[in-house]
Amino acid sequence: MEMKKTTKKRKKSPAAKRITNHHILPTSRGGKQHRSNIAKVANRKHEIYHMLFCNMTPVEIIVYLVDYFWAGQWNWVELALERRKKDEPE
Ligand SMILES: [Zn+2]
Repeated sequence: MEMKKTTKKRKKSPAAKRITNHHILPTSRGGKQHRSNIAKVANRKHEIYHMLFCNMTPVEIIVYLVDYFWAGQWNWVELALERRKKDEPE
């Protein structure tokens, strides 16, 4: 008997797609209510971000990822920065 793979795409609810304000540096950690500290993100992704990272700062998140998931290999961060630099218009 052949198993059929179902690739049913889940429809996102309107609530999940609603755009919310995310404070890049959390206000509880000294982040300001200023547009330079606010990113517009879909509600569901915003919820998931905070489930994963609570109110960690961006630097704490990077250090956490390197220490716990990338076995202390900072070269991945360097590669990302190099790639980002290369993609930036001059
Ligand atoms: Zn947020």
